[in-house]
Amino acid sequence: MANSTQHPILTLDPKSFVADLPFIHYQDGTLFIDNVSTKTLSEVYGTPLYVYSKNALLANYQAYVDSFAPLSDVQICYAVKSNSNLAVLATLATAGAGFDIVSVGELFRVLKAGGQASKIVYSGVGKTADDITTALDAGIGCFNVEAISEIELISQVASKLNKVAPIALRINPDVDAKTHPYISTGLKDNKFGISHDQAIQAYQLAKSLPNLDLIGIDCHIGSQLTDIQPFVDALDKMIEIIDQLYRLGINLRHLDLGGGLGVRYVDENPASVQTFANALLPKLLDLQKKYGLGLHLEPGRNISANAGVLLTKVDVLKPTEHKNFAIVDASMSELIRPALYDSVMAIIPAQPHQDTPFTTWNVVGAVCESSDFLGKDRQLALKVGDTLAITGTGAYGFVMASNYNSRPRPAEIMCDDGTHRVVRERESLDDLWRGECI
Ligand SMILES: *Cc1c(COP(=O)(O)O)cnc(C)c1O
Repeated sequence: MANSTQHPILTLDPKSFVADLPFIHYQDGTLFIDNVSTKTLSEVYGTPLYVYSKNALLANYQAYVDSFAPLSDVQICYAVKSNSNLAVLATLATAGAGFDIVSVGELFRVLKAGGQASKIVYSGVGKTADDITTALDAGIGCFNVEAISEIELISQVASKLNKVAPIALRINPDVDAKTHPYISTGLKDNKFGISHDQAIQAYQLAKSLPNLDLIGIDCHIGSQLTDIQPFVDALDKMIEIIDQLYRLGINLRHLDLGGGLGVRYVDENPASVQTFANALLPKLLDLQKKYGLGLHLEPGRNISANAGVLLTKVDVLKPTEHKNFAIVDASMSELIRPALYDSVMAIIPAQPHQDTPFTTWNVVGAVCESSDFLGKDRQLALKVGDTLAITGTGAYGFVMASNYNSRPRPAEIMCDDGTHRVVRERESLDDLWRGECI
């Protein structure tokens, strides 16, 4: 097989593994999500199936609110791209969250879900005049501006509409987030943000242009960071700039430190939100005192990842001389993280067997690609027809799903303390060719 890297064999004890995942537990030999049996879910809705826990989402959001409570002005802007289902957004909007968006599509999702426009921050490197017009008309809270040319474009569009655009400049602090290169965004050779060296010049330009309200400074250094130090380094770089700006008479209202705090997928040990907050709070309190600066954060994965699982059924067991393949009804079309980032995600049985021997399996989909794997070298006791749960799939799961190989996308279910409801229907065959003609 091409590209086959050697993975260590992964053995997880399902019960102790889920002990770390709030609102996921085993009861009488069956996995439960937010007090709903995964056996019931797979029987009622079929597989593959994305399942979310409302209470896990709320708890993960609340951890940010509580941990940063010592600051008087904090806005937690959930990163919509990690999971943009309307029910997820509505859950967080009701809890008071703001939102970090990267497209007009996400803007309308947030509004549709009942989110407040004034609590939206709009990031992204390729905003067009149309995008900016739409966002200004909606009355979003802040544009996170990623290029000098974008400062000019927003000023032009706002002038034409006779509006004032609230902006923050996204500065690339040039710190190494020590994460996967595809999800690292804070190094100077990344496409994101305005370079650290050009920051002051960019602020001076913004200050000189009409119809701009220069309210903030922003950075986002990457995703799935398990270590706190890169955040502290980025904050220090931001503080240097904020101090310089203040001396130049440019006084900002908020600092946005982006998202990126990681989660445990298998055996990572990411810092908790409380540890993250404790490391940053002394400096943030100082900024609040000196400049009246508020804080924005843009967590995505850290709120949604472990609030979701993907349920999938074992269709075929195919032992071969070299590898044993368990072919399941999910694939890279439904969950691309393993294929795209080489992510290792936990795969646990919905109903562990007592009477079946453990074997080392490659858990793969039925898509015609050798990159179509969900987990390699997993110690599992499997039978055809078993349901497996892939945990950590509440973030960058369904949102990255495609119809590759003409596979209808799965349904999404929201569980809430023993109740369950469809929050997105399974796609039908007709959905596959909607909009096409012969
Ligand atoms: C992706 C992204 C986030 C969220 O990242 P997570 O790792 O999911 O927390 C936040 N802000 C910006 C600008 C992003 O691009």
